[in-house]
Amino acid sequence: MEKKNIDWGNLGFGYMETDKRYVSTWKDGAWDEGALIDDPMITMSECACVLQYAQTIFEGIKAYETVDGRIVTFRPDLNAERLANSAKRMEMPVFPVDRFVDSIKQVVKANESFVPPYGTGATLYIRPYMFGINPVIGVKPATEFQYRVFTTPVGPYFKGGAKPITIRVSDFDRAAPHGTGHIKAGLNYAMSLHAIVDAHNQGYDENMYLDPQTRTKVEETGGANFLFVTKDNTIVTPKSESILPSVTRRSLMYVAEHYLGLKVEEREVYLDEIKDFAECGLCGTAAVISPVGKVVDHGKEICFPSGMDEMGPTITKLRETLTGIQMGTIEAPEGWIVEIK
Ligand SMILES: *Cc1c(COP(=O)(O)O)cnc(C)c1O
Repeated sequence: MEKKNIDWGNLGFGYMETDKRYVSTWKDGAWDEGALIDDPMITMSECACVLQYAQTIFEGIKAYETVDGRIVTFRPDLNAERLANSAKRMEMPVFPVDRFVDSIKQVVKANESFVPPYGTGATLYIRPYMFGINPVIGVKPATEFQYRVFTTPVGPYFKGGAKPITIRVSDFDRAAPHGTGHIKAGLNYAMSLHAIVDAHNQGYDENMYLDPQTRTKVEETGGANFLFVTKDNTIVTPKSESILPSVTRRSLMYVAEHYLGLKVEEREVYLDEIKDFAECGLCGTAAVISPVGKVVDHGKEICFPSGMDEMGPTITKLRETLTGIQMGTIEAPEGWIVEIK
């Protein structure tokens, strides 16, 4: 299929309307068969549950062209499972795992001409989401839901290489103890908007959120999990009930252990021990890993030895190995790469 005439090298991370989207409706206790549609607009009641009480969850996943010209996606079964867990916690119906994977394939195929060519660094970002759509005024879950998937081409997260970022220890919390930090709910992002705008106004790229109960342990940022590298090259990631289980972070931990032969640990990480780490990175679908050069804790600077000019050596190796697996230049573990075309 002919590619769209898009300046792939200069795409940002923004929304661009593509040709088709998928929709399936839950009504009277069952999902309908679902379909691809043309209309990007949604019409709903002014009293829709999603508008009044924020009953909405989402996923983020990418499709891209490999070195040998296939169109693939990465571990969609994990996104399907995570969406199911989010749905249960939010009193929403589960969209079956096999139908989730099928819907991703359908939407990507239908928007094939928007999949950026191999080597541009750009990808087709896929956004599955689900929300309560019928009118609800007394507080209770909706009884009608839409599951939808749209796609949008996005540019490489880092233009001209990944420069280390500076983050601050936030005085705001992103998740409550026993709250919804571990699911991908829109409400977690709504309450983080003020914190991120404030961080940017103060000259920081991101917020480091601490555990809300004791404010002594590292959790994550607004949309990415932490990986730390110790001075003797062990990979450490924080363990907590209120962290969102990143597919990228789980994949990188596997790569560290099974491809690079490194020791890996998932454990509580205290704020006062991060000064001893050699490297720090943030993991998520959009950027794979962004290097962190500096953490500022209320004026006190914690500078990682990897510095502010480039990514540290271990994080670089992790990033190159995972992107190689994704792009088809390094052999993938069984089931990680799902072929769409
Ligand atoms: C989506 C998300 C991540 C990253 O998860 P990936 O599956 O790697 O994209 C990390 N933290 C939060 C809070 C998120 O919502």
